[in-house]
Amino acid sequence: MSKVLVVGAGGVSSVAVHKMAQQIASGSGPFSDIFLASRTVSKCDAIAQSVKERTGIDIQTGAIDADDVPAMTALIEHEKPSLVVNLALPYQDLPIMDACLATKTDYLDTANYEPRDEAKFEYKWQWEYHDRFKDAGIMALLGSGFDPGVTSVFTCWLKKHHFDRIDTVDILDCNGGDHGQHFATNFNPEINIREITAAARHWENGDWVETPALSHKQQFDFEGVGPKNMYLMYHEEIESLKTHLPEIQRIRFWMTFGEAYLTHLEVLQNVGMTSIDPIEYEGQKIVPLQFLKAVLPEPASLGETTKGKTNIGVIATGEKDGVQKTLYVKNICSHEAAYRETGNQGVSYTTGVPAMIGSALMLRDTWQGNGVFNMEEFDPDPFMAMLNEHGLPWKLEELAGPLSF
Ligand code: NDP
Repeated sequence: MSKVLVVGAGGVSSVAVHKMAQQIASGSGPFSDIFLASRTVSKCDAIAQSVKERTGIDIQTGAIDADDVPAMTALIEHEKPSLVVNLALPYQDLPIMDACLATKTDYLDTANYEPRDEAKFEYKWQWEYHDRFKDAGIMALLGSGFDPGVTSVFTCWLKKHHFDRIDTVDILDCNGGDHGQHFATNFNPEINIREITAAARHWENGDWVETPALSHKQQFDFEGVGPKNMYLMYHEEIESLKTHLPEIQRIRFWMTFGEAYLTHLEVLQNVGMTSIDPIEYEGQKIVPLQFLKAVLPEPASLGETTKGKTNIGVIATGEKDGVQKTLYVKNICSHEAAYRETGNQGVSYTTGVPAMIGSALMLRDTWQGNGVFNMEEFDPDPFMAMLNEHGLPWKLEELAGPLSF
């Protein structure tokens, strides 16, 4: 039985901690104790209270600025967890990995490192830790959310059971939920807007193809949601998939956005509110995007009002026994059901559940190794089984042929 230290107290953390506590309550998982630490301790206490009411389990809470490596190291030394689960922001990935190295403690996250002053996300910074983690005899699991995370597990499962060779992968991420707000993001607004306003990039025939942000649109009929416009975007699992499954000729990532969302975003961009370059305001330096985050609703507050479903999946084409086929594996998640169970909306749910599953597989040594790993490097089967058991059931469908676009 193992203690975990969870860092960050937003929507994703709340779901992961509720799911870990459910397993403690049922005596079924590897978790024994949870210490939840974040910058704002009152948010940890609110999660602890909800967990107590829903599961009867007590969790400990505390304050931490995870950017402060000595403080983070001291917290790990004091609490002695078997695993640190980083559900703060991508900026904290490297400082928390440094603290894990200093204390020889395993590490897991759901989003790859981004430098604050450059809207660019790449695995290179975290992959550079591989030898140090290996030498220290510890493991880091990167990107154990839905996308990245489950999307890589879906692809590896398709390869393991249904294809001799995969030729193309399209990841389709649809949030068909309506939160009733004029403009809000369903996970951290700063990270979300940085991601959406970055140039689109996909992988094709051994090279990156770059196109302007939100310039390539397709309509797709999503089960449980209906027809939606989706846009080609860069997403970090493209980098890990093309690295670990180099046979794939083309990997694309698509995300749906409504017209109202895009109009708001365009206006905010046009007036400079999405900029990450600091400006002088009343004698103080502020970053416009960080100020915008401060006035937008907290994603964790959207749970109660969000209705509808998410539908995220992978469409792969390839060959099995000499026959070409197109397969689609997906999960459909209800925002209302996620809220009833954990007090959080579906996007937090679809990320927090895989974070719990990755943690459980590491703690049970089902997924193990020394060094820094992506999801594609492990057997997908136990992860797929746990998705079905813990609220994110998936289904497989054969399509008549490849996507027409
Ligand atoms: P939130 O903004 O709701 O929560 C982030 C939490 O991190 C807040 O509690 C915040 O504290 C805390 N935090 C920020 N900086 C620090 C710090 N220096 N030290 C300690 N705690 C800190 O985000 P979400 O819950 O929506 O997202 C969490 C993570 O999940 C993000 O990295 C996001 O990119 C990732 N994600 C991954 C997805 C996937 O599918 N793989 C999908 C969605 C999200 P405070 O409240 O004080 O600011």
